[in-house]
Amino acid sequence: MLKLHNISKIYQTDEVETTALDNINIEIEKGEFVAIMGPSGCGKSTLLNIVGMLDTPSHGKYHFLEHEVAQASERQLAEIRKRNIGFIFQSFNLIDELTVFENVELALLYNSVPAGERKERVDRVLDKVGIAHRAKHMPSQLSGGQQQRVAVARALVAEPAMILADEPTGNLDSAHGEEVMEMLKQLNEEGATIIMVTHSPAHADYARRTINLFDGQVVTEMHRAAE
Ligand code: ADP
Ligand code: ADP
Repeated sequence: MLKLHNISKIYQTDEVETTALDNINIEIEKGEFVAIMGPSGCGKSTLLNIVGMLDTPSHGKYHFLEHEVAQASERQLAEIRKRNIGFIFQSFNLIDELTVFENVELALLYNSVPAGERKERVDRVLDKVGIAHRAKHMPSQLSGGQQQRVAVARALVAEPAMILADEPTGNLDSAHGEEVMEMLKQLNEEGATIIMVTHSPAHADYARRTINLFDGQVVTEMHRAAE
């Protein structure tokens, strides 16, 4: 599905140069569930942002599906993202002024899906994550766990091949965190490729493969046998 080849990311701010990623080589196959772990500041978010084409590497090659990412224009990148990638963030990132339904529908507006089909798909995905009864609520009227369900629904509605989750359980209590992990596990079993940054070893256990970063480098990798 994707291949990162000698990827480095160097941030230059004033006099300070920070090497966030240092010569990363990672290959991820379709259908994998990968956890990325490591101490704060080791480059996890930077790696996920590069994989999600939200940020560009300073050096190296990134191959995603049939695309050579460095050669794509901004517009092509936006198109590749919309068609193939769903994002889930620690802080939910819902739009406060839109209802639950509208927040999820937004992911389809960009894809020019007709209104009738949009309603059907949004209803179906809200039902799937167990939040259909809150469709007309505003995000501020929901608990953190419910907001993250909406964010999961938004990531799913365009049926992306890949889901990128940056600490999806970071703002949730353990019960709601488990619920989100169970959802991700089910999505993976249904075929979605998932890459997730987490600080929680228990949540990394849901993934089949864990990549440990330290100071911008891959230090160890672990694979878990299928159940
Ligand atoms: P993690 O997600 O593992 O906490 P990050 O990827 O956020 O790590 O950051 C890796 C390193 O790069 C850190 O030292 C961080 O301070 C630095 N960094 C991240 N983003 C930027 C940025 N936009 N500008 C400058 N430095 C950055
Ligand atoms: P986390 O550890 O949860 O990844 P961080 O606070 O390290 O959170 O970083 C969150 C985001 O803030 C990063 O993805 C990066 O884009 C930005 N960031 C981190 N460090 C810096 C920095 N030194 N300068 C500018 N932006 C930064």
